[in-house]
Amino acid sequence: MSTGSIAALADRVRDRLAAEPPGITVAGEPVTGLAGAETVDPSTAAPLTHVPQATEAVVDRAVRAGLAAQPGWHALGVPGRRRYLDAFGQVVREHRHELAMLDAMDGGNPYPAMVADIERCLHQFVTWPAVAGMTGGDTIPIDPRDLHFTEYQPYGVVARVVAYNHPAYFAIKAMLPPLVMGNAVVLKPADQTPLSALRLAELARDVLPPGVLTVLSGGAQTGQALVTHPEVRRIGFTGSLATGLAIQRAAAGSAVRHVSLELGGKNAMIVFPDAPVDVVADAVVAGMNLDSCAGQSCGSTSRVFVHARIHDEVVEAVAARLARIEPGVAYAEGTAMGPLVSAAHRDRVAGYVTAGRDEGARLVCGPSVRDRRAGYYQYPVLFDRVEQSMRIAREEIFGPVISVLGWSDLDDALARANAVQYGLTGAVWTNDLSQAMRAVRGLDTGYVWVNDVSRHYWGMPFGGVRDSGLGREECLDELRSYAQVKAVNVRTRW
Ligand code: NAD
Repeated sequence: MSTGSIAALADRVRDRLAAEPPGITVAGEPVTGLAGAETVDPSTAAPLTHVPQATEAVVDRAVRAGLAAQPGWHALGVPGRRRYLDAFGQVVREHRHELAMLDAMDGGNPYPAMVADIERCLHQFVTWPAVAGMTGGDTIPIDPRDLHFTEYQPYGVVARVVAYNHPAYFAIKAMLPPLVMGNAVVLKPADQTPLSALRLAELARDVLPPGVLTVLSGGAQTGQALVTHPEVRRIGFTGSLATGLAIQRAAAGSAVRHVSLELGGKNAMIVFPDAPVDVVADAVVAGMNLDSCAGQSCGSTSRVFVHARIHDEVVEAVAARLARIEPGVAYAEGTAMGPLVSAAHRDRVAGYVTAGRDEGARLVCGPSVRDRRAGYYQYPVLFDRVEQSMRIAREEIFGPVISVLGWSDLDDALARANAVQYGLTGAVWTNDLSQAMRAVRGLDTGYVWVNDVSRHYWGMPFGGVRDSGLGREECLDELRSYAQVKAVNVRTRW
């Protein structure tokens, strides 16, 4: 899209927000009288609009609407639901530029990256229903005279609470698996980035049966009311470890519920000496997801363990690449990296940069005086000579900060890579298969790339071990996790 047309789209989206402020609808009925919270454009620090905050009573209304709609939705069967979801997918496709612009303005991620986000999940409106027809169940050969089988039954109303870093993408990818399996869904987008999810709900209103999908904007209180609602038995959460733990505790307080968690990461890349320096340097930058979300990504490989033999060359090559990246306005033509999501998060990331310096790491590049522009900018930061004891080596920063650690003994590198509470992703760079497999097996994570980074392969289970989470997404296991197994035993004689 040209500069002029991006600017024109930004104007149209702003005008629409002014003319029709975002609202919550439950079963086709607008909810009025709610308090609003300001949402801010991270590129300029200027207020964008006000967003309604769903109260406990609204959460209850949404869940009850879901309960009323769900049996009919389930009764449609997979082919019936597929027709609705196909229609929904087509409307989303038609509105992808508007949705992407809302995300760019609301969350600060560059507009082209947000278009790409939505485009890469559009197929899921069609492929999840296709796969759902194959989830099956088992026929279990216990007694040849009888019939013993299992089938999947939906939970009823599923709560999904998501993070801010890929707003529309997370909303779509969170709602589809439970919907496809015959559940109603109540989804809460992140406090910072509710606009695209609310717009998705508006689009759904014209194509899905009322009550099947509700989007509730709000903060922690809204989320808390949702995950503790007595009728919600299945919760899928994407966000921080602290919130994941709070949800597990709160959800367990009053009912038995199935909770899956996609939490944080402090991911390691292990670079062997045979890997070409330029290829590795490109991978280090790509692995940080700077272009899509300024490093605010759970899967970012922000700890880079480089073999001593190529260490200095890799640091130099990465620094040269980072020096060319200029953070800018998320909806301007050619922006290579946007701002961070909020002032509070920008200050938190800056605090880690200070901590890294104070603890003795070598600051190779970033920050810049231009980080003090209006808007929540943070230039990419590269630290070298990072020690395991430093906070920047152990805590999730969730921003554009890379730590380089050296190694010469693989077992020692793997021990340090695993010496964090998280276990989400890891990457290994070498063409020596036996070394690669030693590293793959040695990394205590849920997902590993070899000679690749950051890419998600739909169908491959994504999720973490230890404090990075519970459960797997983007695969058949995810679909099945939104239903419960019922075992049926039929004696075919008296
Ligand atoms: P967060 O935990 O602050 O918020 C996530 C969501 O939880 C928001 O919608 C928020 O309103 C809601 N929430 C907050 N308190 C709640 C409560 N008590 N009960 C119910 N809901 C509550 O996370 P964030 O800052 O939006 O996202 C960043 C974090 O998410 C990082 O740690 C990142 O690694 C993680 N993340 C993980 C994945 C993954 O797939 N593993 C993907 C994206 C982000």
